[in-house]
Amino acid sequence: MFCGPVDFVKGVVAMPGLPPADRVEVCFAGRSNVGKSSLINALTGRKNMARASNTPGRTQEINYFSLGESRYLVDLPGYGYAEAPVATVQKWQALLKQYLQGRQTLRRAFVLIDTRHGVKKVDEEILTLLDKSAVTFQVVMTKMDKVNKAEREANLAQTRAALARHPAAYPEIVMTSSEKGDGIETLRAIIAGLE
Ligand code: GDP
Repeated sequence: MFCGPVDFVKGVVAMPGLPPADRVEVCFAGRSNVGKSSLINALTGRKNMARASNTPGRTQEINYFSLGESRYLVDLPGYGYAEAPVATVQKWQALLKQYLQGRQTLRRAFVLIDTRHGVKKVDEEILTLLDKSAVTFQVVMTKMDKVNKAEREANLAQTRAALARHPAAYPEIVMTSSEKGDGIETLRAIIAGLE
């Protein structure tokens, strides 16, 4: 578990709203419905920690959580909403770009990929943005309890092949199930180990 309290800090809609860059931070990105809120809740051990980011009006915010005294966990809005207005998407993409390119204390981005689906076109866009921003990213496969071994292996191979095309990709993939708890300790240890 993370040392010290885990708390919601604030939702940010523009760069000047970011907290002071005085802690190591990691961010979480993923398609809407990939299981991001569930994973953040499992990681922090707090049931409704990430609910704020899923409530209407909060979905376009960058949500900051403190992990003890020395780290931030940053929940980026889910992407790939088919119904989002173009202007909203553009505004969000501009903020995301500014954040990824300008945040000195960002140590790693965790990109969530549904184990049932593998890397899709909409995921490729963010992976390319992470490459361009020179932000190391690590893929976290979610909902692994929902697939059998053969499907898991096939989608893992597809994901590995996709990552090979991205220079900013960290090679190790973390397999998780928020439902069953698989991979949660591993992910905590990775975050705790980042300096
Ligand atoms: P978000 O939109 O990315 O924040 O996704 P949520 O965390 O809200 O999850 C979307 C749906 O997937 C919900 O119905 C969750 O209960 C379900 N879900 C999330 N993680 C898991 C998991 O590890 N296993 C299973 N079986 N379902 C999950």
